[in-house]
Amino acid sequence: MSRRVAILGSTGSIGENALNVVRALPSELCVTGLAADRNYVRLLEQAAEFGVSRVAVADESSARACRAASPRGVEVLAGREGVAEIAADTAADVVLCAIVVMAGLDPVLAAVDEEVDVALATKEVLVAAGELVTSRCRTNGTALLPVDSEHNAIFQCICGAAGGDLVPPLVATVSGNLVRRIMLTASGGPFGLHPEVDLSKVTVEQALKHPRWDMGRKVTIDSATLMNKGLELLEAHWLFGLPNERIDIVIHPESVVHSLVEWNDGSTLAQLSMPDMRYAIQHALTFPRRLDGRLPGLDLVSLRSLHFEAPDPVRFPSLGLAREAMRQGGTLPAVMNAANEAAVEAFLLGAIRFSGIWALVEQIMAEHENIKQPGRDAILAADAASRCRVAELAGINRSTG
Ligand code: NDP
Repeated sequence: MSRRVAILGSTGSIGENALNVVRALPSELCVTGLAADRNYVRLLEQAAEFGVSRVAVADESSARACRAASPRGVEVLAGREGVAEIAADTAADVVLCAIVVMAGLDPVLAAVDEEVDVALATKEVLVAAGELVTSRCRTNGTALLPVDSEHNAIFQCICGAAGGDLVPPLVATVSGNLVRRIMLTASGGPFGLHPEVDLSKVTVEQALKHPRWDMGRKVTIDSATLMNKGLELLEAHWLFGLPNERIDIVIHPESVVHSLVEWNDGSTLAQLSMPDMRYAIQHALTFPRRLDGRLPGLDLVSLRSLHFEAPDPVRFPSLGLAREAMRQGGTLPAVMNAANEAAVEAFLLGAIRFSGIWALVEQIMAEHENIKQPGRDAILAADAASRCRVAELAGINRSTG
């Protein structure tokens, strides 16, 4: 029987790639539900192609327009509740969460509460609410299958070698004893290997020009500030149970080695593939099987050489900020995440400089009074306060956007 998949954020970069994976494996995967924010035109096209009868549109006015445009037999759910309903639909075996940022939290919790496995692309959910989400997964026995290519790579290495079929977050119960450290690779974005670039003068256009990956705007800017790697430190911590000092970062501009695991005996395993998100998405959606989705293998001879460099933590303070958030825990990671998200938005609007992104994040983290072991409401309150403070400091009127 084919595996039933619901896709949240189906109109985005990860969502469209996931549908490419389903197209390549039509007898193995089928789609039971789709969700987006505003792009209902594309959502309805996807529903027609994949025979989906239930979709959700988060933005209320787009949901009304979607209802008016939808053909007979397609049910359109509206708002955040509608998206959470798609996530909690037990008609799906696995929910792919590829919604941008914190809007992913409630749908992920809804899926976990209904014991539906989650393939997780939205790293911000684990950054801000890692303790909450992973403890609920452990209680309900649900899996968090990493879609982020680095974490998917570690998952592939650990699950192959740790024995048994433990998946995140349960795999954390054994990986901490077997693994000496993990190494997350980073492409370095447009500036990581260019010390000559004055980061205070970077334009939006330059920051959006990623040398290797074609992704959504928020994650592309995060790659340029290296905050993407900072967020991934926390994501790795919650998925694999390793502490700060056993998670390293190495810049690898070719993005072919997706990450590495060093075992206690000194051996290292790595996962390699071409830089294309379909490898990780397919692995997460079809785990534990390995199916032929017509993705090409590696041609090592034509690659010729692979490069590795240490990141510069002084030029890219986001890495240190993320490590500090991990050290302190509580609501601080949620505050850092929200401040970053809002600061990226402010940069894209032209309200602050590129280097202002981490300056704002640092200031807001310093101002925060941390709350330990927060529940959902405390996390969301810290998130909202952090966004307001960024808007205030960046001089943005939040009611106009
Ligand atoms: P995009 O901006 O390309 O797409 C975001 C998707 O989320 C769109 O479908 C958007 O709908 C939808 N969306 C936004 N808000 C809501 C909401 N409230 N409810 C339902 N759907 C919503 O982002 P990406 O695909 O690039 O990234 C998605 C996530 O995956 C991010 O967290 C990112 O960090 C992570 N990721 C992405 C990678 C990549 O290669 N792109 C790699 C690794 C991780 P609409 O089109 O209507 O706006």
